[in-house]
Amino acid sequence: MSKIQTIDPSAIDSSTLSASAFSVDKKKAVDKKQDGQPKTNLLGLSKSQLIEFFAKIGEKKFRATQVMKWIYQYGVDDFFAMSNLSKKLQAKLDQVACITPPKVKFKQFSDDGTRKWVFEVMGGSLVETVLIPADDNKQFGRKTLCISSQVGCALDCSFCSTGKQGFERDLTASEIIGQLWVANQSYMTDVPIAERENRVTNVVMMGMGEPLLNYRPVVASMSLMLDDHAFGMSKRRVTLSTSGVVPRMYQLAKDIDVALAISLHAPNDELRDELVPINKKYPLAELIEAAKSYVYETNPRHKKHVTIEYVMLAGVNDTDEHAHQLVDLLDGLPSKINLIPFNPFPHAPYGRSSNNRIHAFSNILNQGGFVCTIRQTRGDDIDAACGQLVGQVADRTRRSQKWQEAVKKRQQSVDEA
Ligand code: SAH
Ligand code: SF4
Repeated sequence: MSKIQTIDPSAIDSSTLSASAFSVDKKKAVDKKQDGQPKTNLLGLSKSQLIEFFAKIGEKKFRATQVMKWIYQYGVDDFFAMSNLSKKLQAKLDQVACITPPKVKFKQFSDDGTRKWVFEVMGGSLVETVLIPADDNKQFGRKTLCISSQVGCALDCSFCSTGKQGFERDLTASEIIGQLWVANQSYMTDVPIAERENRVTNVVMMGMGEPLLNYRPVVASMSLMLDDHAFGMSKRRVTLSTSGVVPRMYQLAKDIDVALAISLHAPNDELRDELVPINKKYPLAELIEAAKSYVYETNPRHKKHVTIEYVMLAGVNDTDEHAHQLVDLLDGLPSKINLIPFNPFPHAPYGRSSNNRIHAFSNILNQGGFVCTIRQTRGDDIDAACGQLVGQVADRTRRSQKWQEAVKKRQQSVDEA
């Protein structure tokens, strides 16, 4: 239990609250009730679920929004620090509920401002989260958090280290939103409270896993990102990235208004079947149709474009002809194209396209009328560049083992030849 008991969210300043109230590493109370049953983890509950929870313990609806503010806006995980709750309610909550993010197993902050966390989630699996600041690395500048949605991924894209792990399990909503909660706390700890508005500004669901294959927890988490009583982020600053689970793209448009990125990586079906195997199930024509629908048919006032992600693999998908094909394919789809230099990982069968090649490719897209950016590789010094989210994460699955054996065999036969 924290000793700090006198915080009023409307009147917080650095003199009323020590940074320790926001420390993620602080020793927490045991998350079990007196009868040995687990407490209810409030982190990750939607507003309606929280209202339901408070109704069950005989409390009024407005307590839900009060507690949400404490959890998400002030980073508080201790009911006794929630000063606008009565002492009686604080004690009651402490008996039956907890605010528990996934356990930080390891964290590393890079000189360029990049921060990386490895979380141990329920069952002992590890996932990674990476925070990448804008170029200028200003204290209050843009900070983009790359969040994981699954442990591993079932879709097995040929250039992706997460895919090579295979699929282990879906993350829960508290494990997903907990990544953002912990990242924000890293700005709330050891700085004066007056500076607590320094926090993550953008979220991309581009960590481990395919977010549309863990649909409900992902949408619930993104709802908390947007909710004014929770993180209150702008819907333009929350982006879901998908490799193209077409039916769920239509569903997403109905359920929540967030920005959409599509991992395209190839301008024709033959090549995409090889790089992004889900293309065999939902080929390009269907994917582009779904993307157009996302832009035009759902809330067109807000959704102006999709982001097209395209990893640059030397000699595989990066020729002038590929660029021209891409221009033709995206005709009629309002899109911004983001070229991602391939991030190599052990045993990867690809190389990164040269800078000259990437620029030549980008010029063709520009001439075709598309805005095109080239993703900067950041955080290399802590192994946190995008696409390396496996990094030091334990690699436990059979698919990975099999894959590495196959690569070894292939190398041996090349050596012998
Ligand atoms: N499953 C989702 C989101 C996670 S992948 C998706 O595929 O969109 C996030 C992004 O990183 C995707 O665009 C993916 O294609 C890209 N990526 C994966 N491996 C990469 C690598 N080795 N180098 C560069 N980008 C990679
Ligand atoms: Fe899964 Fe995305 Fe990696 Fe493909 S690129 S294997 S969909 S995480």
